[in-house]
Amino acid sequence: MSDFVSQNKRTRLNGEYRVDHVDAQVTVYGWVQSYRDHGGVIFIDLRDRSGIVQLRFEPWVGDGAAHAVADKLRPEWVIGVRGKVISRGENINAKIPTGEVEVLIDVIEVLSESPTPPFEIKDDLDTSEALRLKYRYLDLRRASLSKNFQLRSQVNRETRNYFADHGFLEIETPILANSTPEGARDYLVPSRVHPGSFYALPQSPQQFKQLLMMGGMDRYMQICRCFRDEDLRSDRQPEFTQLDLEMSFVSVADVRELLDGYVAGIWKSALDVVVPSPIPAITYTEAMDKYGCDKPDLRFGLPLTDLTTTLRGRVEFRIFKGALDAGGIVKALYIPDGKVFTRKDLDKVLPDEAAVYGAKGVAWARVQPAGVWSGPVAKGVDDALRAEVNAQLGAEEGGLILFSADTPAVVNAALARLRGLAAERSGLIAANSWAFVWVTDFPMFEYDEGAGRFQAMHHPFTSPRSEDMALLRTNPAAVKAQAYDLVVNGVELGGGSIRIHRPDVQDLVFRTLGLAAEEVQEKFGFFLEALSHGTPPHGGIALGLDRLLMLLCGAESLRDVIAFPKTQRATDLLTRSPNPVSALQLRDLSIRTAVDD
Ligand code: ASP
Repeated sequence: MSDFVSQNKRTRLNGEYRVDHVDAQVTVYGWVQSYRDHGGVIFIDLRDRSGIVQLRFEPWVGDGAAHAVADKLRPEWVIGVRGKVISRGENINAKIPTGEVEVLIDVIEVLSESPTPPFEIKDDLDTSEALRLKYRYLDLRRASLSKNFQLRSQVNRETRNYFADHGFLEIETPILANSTPEGARDYLVPSRVHPGSFYALPQSPQQFKQLLMMGGMDRYMQICRCFRDEDLRSDRQPEFTQLDLEMSFVSVADVRELLDGYVAGIWKSALDVVVPSPIPAITYTEAMDKYGCDKPDLRFGLPLTDLTTTLRGRVEFRIFKGALDAGGIVKALYIPDGKVFTRKDLDKVLPDEAAVYGAKGVAWARVQPAGVWSGPVAKGVDDALRAEVNAQLGAEEGGLILFSADTPAVVNAALARLRGLAAERSGLIAANSWAFVWVTDFPMFEYDEGAGRFQAMHHPFTSPRSEDMALLRTNPAAVKAQAYDLVVNGVELGGGSIRIHRPDVQDLVFRTLGLAAEEVQEKFGFFLEALSHGTPPHGGIALGLDRLLMLLCGAESLRDVIAFPKTQRATDLLTRSPNPVSALQLRDLSIRTAVDD
């Protein structure tokens, strides 16, 4: 091995070469992207994370030795070269930023060789994701992925700066932690020292960040890893990164204002997009009523209309009547440009989409001249009622009304999905448009029919609104929380809340969740005790950084913004985790697996 690297300091990154550098003697390093021989002159595109610079090897330069080596180069070999920057004259390549120059090489050193890679290192790649993940280190060399991580690094830096400027301390919290009730399954780590006991990897640092407020830290931030053992959907990873924040003596308005500024700064610097300030807010109730979901995409209108009161007792149409008699609701989605859905869509596509959410069908009516309806619902609704519904929806000739009649949960979920589909079909979603919204005043609890008890909608440390405190004992279902989610384009960026800071209220919430006194003591005794030692009112939020980056990068998958992601089956195809461990390791941990039995 020669000392080429220690003797030759890299002049600059490859993508940075410009005409200003012409005549400079430079040292360049990188990976061979391509090789071309034009009448004896060899051209090599040399890549690093910043881009590509063209190297030129002429047989008559020096003793021809550099040219002879260049002739043997293959893709993905790593080389170091020395030479002079020259202008490309007429032969400019306008497609790349370095396209006006090239480097005429007189010294070359091959630093590493490579076999032919299993896929070409280029952006428009037609290969399976499994192969890309298995060779992730090659995949990361592709410009599109490399750019994502460069943006990610920039966002991390700006995040730290923003919160430092606003008085936040960056504090790390344990990874070997205890279980937190964030709603997913824990990843457990067995303790060798305490046989039969386990740490839980944090689903979030929720309790620690609150303890930091009790510890007088005032404002905490961390870019932290969280772990949730869930069945993975396309936009989930078992470990993911949160921007985690907590602050003392703040109101909901303070948290929102701080985050408005943060998001505006990031969107401006990453995309040059101006986010309106303040970001508007709607309540959970309004979001569910108008859009059928708690993370509405507000890039387009298409609101839902509740027809329950209008139709009750006045409609014979079986589907509506059945739902209403069973205590359900009827809602409608009105699409002005009704022809975006064909008869086939109405008969098959839409019912199939809605069925995913439990809907038994999608009733519809097309609006004809004079507001007359055609379609299955037409006959079941008399003229007067039809006119009333038309007026309520603002329905006009050419429009299409989609109805859903069922329980509120089914109706809302089904119509929310159809609303999204209708917007896509109608071309209502403009490219590069960003609709941010805060969703506020979430219910404190949701009733889990299966378990026969209440669950915390956010988590059990969330404070009820002060005006709802009394309802905690009498009517938990009606209690609203000081909880908020930040949503953009129908994606939840994050959520948080003002926390309970009184031990008696915290205890009552645990009890409302069906935890017995002993269980509360066992799991949260330390936390209740901490709360009793002078706790500042506090609140916070956590944003999903991976998802935020995915949006900023325009990536299709979270895996494109995580350097070493897991597959949908929670495996790492490169390092092959998880894997079985030796009997000896298990014995040390006092563990016997069911697989052994
Ligand atoms: N710990 C919460 C979560 O991970 C966020 C928060 O309440 O700050 O969802």
